[in-house]
Amino acid sequence: MNQALLSLETASPGHICPFDQACSYLEQAAKELRMDQGLLEVMSHPRKVVTVSIPVKLDNGQVQVLAGHRVQHCDVLGPYKGGTRYHPAVTLREISALAMLMTWKCALVGIPYGGAKGGIAIDPARYSVGELERITRRYTSELIKDIGPSVDIPAPDVGTSAREMAWMMDTYSMNVGHAVPGVVTGKPISIGGSRGREMATGRGVMIIVREALAERGETLAGAKIVIQGFGNVGGAAAVLLDEAGAKVMAVSDVSGGIFNPEGLDIQALKVYAAENNRRIAGFPGSVPVSNAELLALPCDVLIPAALENQITEDNVHEVQAKFVAEAANGPVTLAADLALEARGVTVLPDILANAGGVVVSYLEWVQGLSYVFWDEERVNREMEGLMVHAYHEVIKQSKMRQVPLRVAAYTLGVGRVAQALSDRGLYP
Ligand code: GLU
Repeated sequence: MNQALLSLETASPGHICPFDQACSYLEQAAKELRMDQGLLEVMSHPRKVVTVSIPVKLDNGQVQVLAGHRVQHCDVLGPYKGGTRYHPAVTLREISALAMLMTWKCALVGIPYGGAKGGIAIDPARYSVGELERITRRYTSELIKDIGPSVDIPAPDVGTSAREMAWMMDTYSMNVGHAVPGVVTGKPISIGGSRGREMATGRGVMIIVREALAERGETLAGAKIVIQGFGNVGGAAAVLLDEAGAKVMAVSDVSGGIFNPEGLDIQALKVYAAENNRRIAGFPGSVPVSNAELLALPCDVLIPAALENQITEDNVHEVQAKFVAEAANGPVTLAADLALEARGVTVLPDILANAGGVVVSYLEWVQGLSYVFWDEERVNREMEGLMVHAYHEVIKQSKMRQVPLRVAAYTLGVGRVAQALSDRGLYP
């Protein structure tokens, strides 16, 4: 496949390239849809790839120059939309894959956006708040012509939060001369953020898991859950699943994993993490587990909520869950996905399972554009409606085409984008 725009970086041998994987899923959907080759060719390429230098003065007076990316995959259905990731493993290929995923995700849940993603290869824990602010502001300023409320709307992703969105919003607004809250979503409520946005991705995961269990006549009450990650997504999913009566037996973060076969006290764990520099290791009443052990725990639902490529060809045979709910983007590799499928493990695909975040981003944008702000109950209700609807569409599609849920979800998302592209026609 011609990846001209990504020629800055070649895939490293032996490494599972997220962009190649994303293209494989796209090709699979295209085959299922008997899609025109030309359309597939268009959809396989990001429309725009921007890489900028970010010179930043560190607290010690030295200047460091970082590279920042923003990849805009497709805007046929509306403005580009997607998060901004700060993580040391960020590469242009990864960001390009994640941008493509956003296109299918937005189309799948029926919100009028295209797909994009941004990122800087840094470990935010190694920078002071002041340094992070300078990095974020310079990054935003370099992208000033490429983003905007009807052009491309960033949001939080791994390593960023409402704080970074506030800096982005302020930088953009100062540059154009007036307040533009709609340029980002996931911002603080004080400047036009939406109630419910912080918990939204985790809430969406809970809803999809609940619907999937219901399909088999089961409920969340007493369901055994294992979550890899305890950040914005994994932490919120843990809280909401626990509230719904599920037994969250194990969770993990960078400090390690913790396990209690009787279920962890998630409320107490939240307090413990807040008091311990957001680390969960050593939580009373739990035993430590390694990341590998955590992924291999017998459970009803395994929820990888950290990064991509966690369940691979090498460890997939150890997975002992009935369901794998992809709260992260791309946590199950293509090979592992096929192996799980063959073993009858249902994978709830990322573009469905973690879409709650971008759905509430959309609701935030809608509230901002209409200058009417809703209470949290309404936000949650609207989001739940879109998520449940998308879930049932995926199930229907899966039954109709006799394909796994991921292929069904892709077929819906890719199919809608393909339809829009062919209705609009190729310019000029
Ligand atoms: N970063 C989130 C995702 O991967 C949210 C994106 C958004 O809200 O725009 O879906």
